[in-house]
Amino acid sequence: MKVPLLDLKTQYQSIRSEVLDAVGDVLESQVCILGPKVAELEERVAALSGCKYGVGVSSGTDAILAALMALGIGAGDEVIVPSFTFFATAGCVTRVGATPVFAEIDPRTYNMDAEKLERAITRRTKAIMPVHLFGQMCDMDPILEIAARHGVLVIEDAAQAISATYKGCKAGSMGTVGCLSFYPTKNLGGVGDGGMLVTNDAALHERLVVMRNHGMKPKYHHQFVGGNFRLDPLQAAVLLVKLPHLDRWSEGRRRNAALYDAAFAGTSISTPWISPEMVSIFNQYVIRTERRDELIAHLERNGVGTEIYYPVPLHLQECFRDLGYKQGDLPVSERAAREVVALPIYPELTREQIEHVCRVIVEWAGQRTGSGQVGASLRSH
Ligand SMILES: *Cc1c(COP(=O)(O)O)cnc(C)c1O
Repeated sequence: MKVPLLDLKTQYQSIRSEVLDAVGDVLESQVCILGPKVAELEERVAALSGCKYGVGVSSGTDAILAALMALGIGAGDEVIVPSFTFFATAGCVTRVGATPVFAEIDPRTYNMDAEKLERAITRRTKAIMPVHLFGQMCDMDPILEIAARHGVLVIEDAAQAISATYKGCKAGSMGTVGCLSFYPTKNLGGVGDGGMLVTNDAALHERLVVMRNHGMKPKYHHQFVGGNFRLDPLQAAVLLVKLPHLDRWSEGRRRNAALYDAAFAGTSISTPWISPEMVSIFNQYVIRTERRDELIAHLERNGVGTEIYYPVPLHLQECFRDLGYKQGDLPVSERAAREVVALPIYPELTREQIEHVCRVIVEWAGQRTGSGQVGASLRSH
């Protein structure tokens, strides 16, 4: 049986005619830049995220970049980011001329460890950028408390966490600004690149709207240097079709996660830990094992797709060598990079596919621990 890590075609088939109609409407209108579809999506995604304002941009990366630019972060400034994240989080900090300072993660959640965060703060710190990795939010209360005490901004990288919650608050709504991505593998994915900034700050919203269009206002008058960070209305039209399904799709991911959790209980596989204060959207279901490469090979032989998010922590990336970090500086992040592997979790997985993945993994784990009871644990759910 084949179980790919992600299958976008099944989801597309379920909404095909609506997507084609929506794309057709944009083509007929020939409003090819911004326009009503982008405005409608901004309103809907802001509301979904518990924010007053949304600004559609060209990608999640450009959302982070525009946020840093709009907040005036640049040369001489430091921004604290986790090391165990997608590259864009830190890459954007360097692109605006500031310095990423890498913070350690909590081994259970893979998110920024609030207890260790404070040590990374210096006189130059301008912002903290918590990343809500794999669909679960960071422990935001202590992060916000530390930020407030030191007078620094909080930019949420919520690229993997649209509509996830922490104590009932939505991802992106707790800091100064939140950055979302519509990359096709995200829970709300476009048919190409796209992203959005969400905020409750009216002045920042104004500045972001101008920033994404070359800092231009009025026409051909440039208040500051911005960029072309505009969201494409074709993407907005497709995303508007998908948006009403988002909660149900995320629920499907949680259901699949619960089946995995039950099957792997009592084996040597460690399953994701979700805080009782959070609702995760399970953008990824990430397990860990010391024998990861062996497990990946076993899964591949049995038709199961996997991916490693992320194999090299950012403080050890070649492009950041000048920052002076070395192996051993962030041991929790380094260990996660050696042990994690993501399994197929998308909502359209069939029961048979999930059972196949469970059986293949429990058999493998059972050979090592002598306890391989996949049937029993699946049947009990
Ligand atoms: C996907 C992602 C981004 C970047 O989003 P793009 O839309 O691909 O540019 C940034 N940060 C994290 C954590 C992501 O997962």
